[in-house]
Amino acid sequence: MDCLFCKIISGEIPSKKVYEDDSVYAFYDIAPMAPVHVLIVPKQHIASVNEVTAENSAVISHIYEVAAKLAKELGIADDGYRVVTNCGANAGQTVFHLHFHLLGGTKLKTEMC
Ligand code: AMP
Ligand code: ZN
Repeated sequence: MDCLFCKIISGEIPSKKVYEDDSVYAFYDIAPMAPVHVLIVPKQHIASVNEVTAENSAVISHIYEVAAKLAKELGIADDGYRVVTNCGANAGQTVFHLHFHLLGGTKLKTEMC
C-alpha cells in the first residue's frame, strides 16, 4: 500500500511518536498549524470519513478517547482545543489515510469555512 501514513505507522518513514496502542498511532504534524498539532490515525488503512462503516467505526470512538488523554497530557485540555478531520478535495484533505488533527496551545480561529 503506497500510503504515507501506513509507512509512518510501520516505521518505514520516521515520525515523532506521541502515542501508540494496538489500533491507533499518534505523532506530531510535520508542518504545525498551532503550538500543539498532533495527528491521530487508525492503524488500519481507512482512506477518509467516506470509508467509515459499521465494521470499522469502533476505532473512531477510541481515537476520541486518545484525543482526550493526549490533550490532558499535552496541557491543552483546560484551555480548549480542536479535533478536526478533512474529507476530500473541498476540505483540503492531502493524505488519504484517515487522520484527526488535535490542535491547541493558542486561541484558534473560529471560521468553519
Ligand atoms: P490533511 O490536509 O488534513 O490531509 O492533513 C495532512 C497533514 O499531514 C498535514 O497537516 C501535513 O502537514 C501532515 N503531514 C504530511 N506529511 C507528514 C509527515 N511526514 N509527518 C507528519 N505529518 C505530515
Ligand atoms: Zn494508509
